[in-house]
Amino acid sequence: MEAVVGAGLLTLWLVSTLPLRPGLEGETPYGAPELEVPVRLNVNENPYPPSQGVIADIAQAVTKAAAGLNRYPDRDFPALRQALADYLAVESKVRLSWERIWAANGSNEVMLHILQAFGGPGRACLSFTPSYSMYPEYARDTLTTYVAAPRREDFTLDLDAVATAIDRERPAVILLASPNNPTGTGLELGAVQSILDAARGRGPATTAGEPTDCIVVIDEAYGEFRRAGVPSALELLDANPHLAVSRTMSKAFGMAGLRLGYLAACAEVVNALRVVRLPYHLSSVTQATALAALSHREELMSQVASLRAQRDVLVPWLREQGLTAYDSDANFVLFGPFEDRQDVWRRLLDRGVLIRVVGPTGYLRVCIGTPQEMEQFRSALVTVIKETRP
Ligand SMILES: *Cc1c(COP(=O)(O)O)cnc(C)c1O
Repeated sequence: MEAVVGAGLLTLWLVSTLPLRPGLEGETPYGAPELEVPVRLNVNENPYPPSQGVIADIAQAVTKAAAGLNRYPDRDFPALRQALADYLAVESKVRLSWERIWAANGSNEVMLHILQAFGGPGRACLSFTPSYSMYPEYARDTLTTYVAAPRREDFTLDLDAVATAIDRERPAVILLASPNNPTGTGLELGAVQSILDAARGRGPATTAGEPTDCIVVIDEAYGEFRRAGVPSALELLDANPHLAVSRTMSKAFGMAGLRLGYLAACAEVVNALRVVRLPYHLSSVTQATALAALSHREELMSQVASLRAQRDVLVPWLREQGLTAYDSDANFVLFGPFEDRQDVWRRLLDRGVLIRVVGPTGYLRVCIGTPQEMEQFRSALVTVIKETRP
């Protein structure tokens, strides 16, 4: 108790004397609760840890990298960018040269680089809510104005409204997650193309008064979970130099702990990101680990089909319980509504199941785990619904 009171006083004292940047007053660090519980379905991780074989290969690669740790890492990491390009060529059938790939410590950092390079004071970043809660933070951290326009009731985009918002805001960057988090809904390629068309010549004017194209980022963090036949926005890259497609090894690839996100765009966009990145931002250990993991992509991705299948039975099951559940192209499902979602979340937690309070009022998001974890989730939810139904 003493310590808690002490910490509170300390905070007050700090707030009153530090020259905190205007705009950061009262802000708290991003974060879902990190709780040690048996069933963790709250941050959209892949539930399957790497195999002994993958672990051994990573350990060997890191040992080799460790021998050179007196030197700075490869600053432009062409080998890793080539391996990521090779991965995309297999995964999405889109072949890109390594100069069109960029990587950083998580796709969060990749998107921060985008806003550092293209956003800034007097510039706007446009997104469509509900969406990923980190987007406003990239804008805040780069002094970019964040503008959120609403999605339709079913979370699709009204393309006329999108074009109007672009015309009005002249954003430097548009951030669109597809599949979207927390809704799970994907964007059709036709919709992406129409947004790209609306973005042409509609970015902020240069200081010389020349028109620019607004950068459209399609955040495909969950791209590998998309349903069969759903294409990736990577297919639109060649015809649209103002498109950037962001990916990550954190979700389907099962490497959230590695912190490796990447992006595909035209070489000009990538070169702008190279200007703003901190020198040597990707450590030798990260590069070695990512390369070793990518060489095992088939094994690491082998669970994606079963996670998709689990998802596709969960959605109808939730509906059978009388709930609304949205079709998902990701590894999570948004469901509800609950009169008191915080209470439902807490009761599930009491049964050892951690999910996420996020999205529209009354809704909760559950990530797809192993079949055993999903069974525990379902049985806990049935109990909680019984307890809380009036
Ligand atoms: C999880 C997630 C990311 C990925 O974050 P990393 O920094 O790569 O771990 C990006 N965008 C969305 C929408 C996400 O949900």
